[in-house]
Amino acid sequence: MIEKMELLDVEKLIEEFESMTKDAGNVQRETLKKILEENGCAEYLQNLGLNGRTDPESFKACVPLVTHNDLQPYIQRIVDGSSSPILTGKPITTISLSSGTTQGKPKFVPFNDELMETTLQIYRTSYAFRTREFPIENGKALQLIYSSKQSKTKGGLIAGTATTNVFRNSQFKNTMKAMQSQCCSPDEVIFGPDFHQSLYCHLLCGMIFREEIQFISSTFSHSIVHAFRTFEQVWEELCADIREGVLTSRITFPSVRSAMAKLLKPNPELADLIHKKCLGLNNWYGMIPELFPNVKYIYGIMTGSMEPYLKKLRHYARDLPLISADYGSSEGWIGANVNPNVPPELATYVVLPDIGYFEFIPLKENVEEAKPVGLTEVKVGEEYEVIITSFAGLYRYRLGDVVKVTGFHNLSPELKFICRRNLMLTINIDKNTEKDLQLAVEAASKLNTEEKLEVLDFSSHVDLSTNPGHYVIFWEISGEVREEVLEECCNCLDRSFVDAGYVSSRKINAIGPLELRVVQRGTFQKILNHYVGLGAALSQFKTPRCVGSTNNEVLQILCNNVVKSYFSTAF
Ligand code: AMP
Repeated sequence: MIEKMELLDVEKLIEEFESMTKDAGNVQRETLKKILEENGCAEYLQNLGLNGRTDPESFKACVPLVTHNDLQPYIQRIVDGSSSPILTGKPITTISLSSGTTQGKPKFVPFNDELMETTLQIYRTSYAFRTREFPIENGKALQLIYSSKQSKTKGGLIAGTATTNVFRNSQFKNTMKAMQSQCCSPDEVIFGPDFHQSLYCHLLCGMIFREEIQFISSTFSHSIVHAFRTFEQVWEELCADIREGVLTSRITFPSVRSAMAKLLKPNPELADLIHKKCLGLNNWYGMIPELFPNVKYIYGIMTGSMEPYLKKLRHYARDLPLISADYGSSEGWIGANVNPNVPPELATYVVLPDIGYFEFIPLKENVEEAKPVGLTEVKVGEEYEVIITSFAGLYRYRLGDVVKVTGFHNLSPELKFICRRNLMLTINIDKNTEKDLQLAVEAASKLNTEEKLEVLDFSSHVDLSTNPGHYVIFWEISGEVREEVLEECCNCLDRSFVDAGYVSSRKINAIGPLELRVVQRGTFQKILNHYVGLGAALSQFKTPRCVGSTNNEVLQILCNNVVKSYFSTAF
């Protein structure tokens, strides 16, 4: 009975969301007013001459659009321990390290209670819609989540990745309980100091609680694919641990070992069952429903740079629904997935009008400084760059993401994530985005399917050391691939960049032949390790899809691991 009372009221949450989105315009005005009232005394806003005004018109007239670079000096003072109100009214005590996998190095962004609350709000909202379609029982979730190290800055602030700051907050656990989504692994595993060891233990906990697991999740779906690829390598070791009731000696951290010892009892029947199931699988197809008989769905961000992993995820998940999680960033949340029935390729996110104040720069006009429009003024079918004003000290902040408006949910827009704006392959008049690269890789890897070969991960680089410059695509593939197939893949990649600037430049050799470089197995794992070493968490890891020359270390990892290279003969 007590457990029932703690559960979230799904219908009420949906009702609140419906009424808020029906009044999106007013809610936005009110939200901006609240943000500016709470933070009006902050030095940053004081200097801009708002003089207490909180209406959108004055706000836009006084406050400039900024990037992270513009705010860097303010954020640095906060990081260094200044306690005066710099960006927010209340002092910031926690800093998030954004994953930085898109830029090459982690950025600092402020984190506060309000950001925590909006995080839980968006979790609750999408849970309500999800659970209405796919009810779950009061069981457990295999959450493939990891914390980064939390450290203290020079000025004494706590710094960790945004997900770490969320997972460590006491409210996170309570909300997960209320959402019947408790992680099956103990905290020591989530917060373990080594993610390889945590991953192994997550898998072991998943096996121990296999019948209770209701869904499998992670922040970004890369972590789910990564975990099950690892399972393919370690399943026999997991079975041995379960059989004997003794954890492998590879897990060395005492806190993790003692937490796991409480769960692990000798269970030869379970070990036999898992062993049999694994041997019965064909190339691991349908591994998830076989191993977890009561799983209802897989949940995690699956759009944008996560889309290339869908194929593998479907392979593991067979017919289980794949539901993309919400849209947000370390800087703040934006939209919830309220249509969980839709396949991830078509997933959209409805903006929550009370979690921030949002503006959108139209990209159609193709001028650098097109005028931003408000949340309810966006047009269906058009693309925009997202601007956030948050409760955590960011005002008119250019997030750098490109989204497309696909419709409206009541009066709030539904956004489809398109790509990062600054990720661009460009040499002269050509412009290819992360999305274009993704489509090209998808087309070329289809040639591979006939050979039952798989592109495990990919990245790209503009090589200007040759004359003319050319695009380089790095592929990590599984198995041996025939030379002719890879030559054809390389040509197909070159032909798949259909941007007029690229095609015309290729024709006149103003851009040289595209180069496909095949890297050895494990190269992308080295890149992941590199970022984790910099303080990123596996939970927020996104493979950098375009590596610039300034990101020297990652470029070196890629270049040092090339086993074969092919030049296109497509033009
Ligand atoms: P982080 O820097 O780790 O906070 O990552 C935030 C970035 O991840 C966003 O700016 C987006 O580029 C990307 N992202 C977050 N949520 C989604 C989503 N649902 N779909 C696609 N990309 C996303």
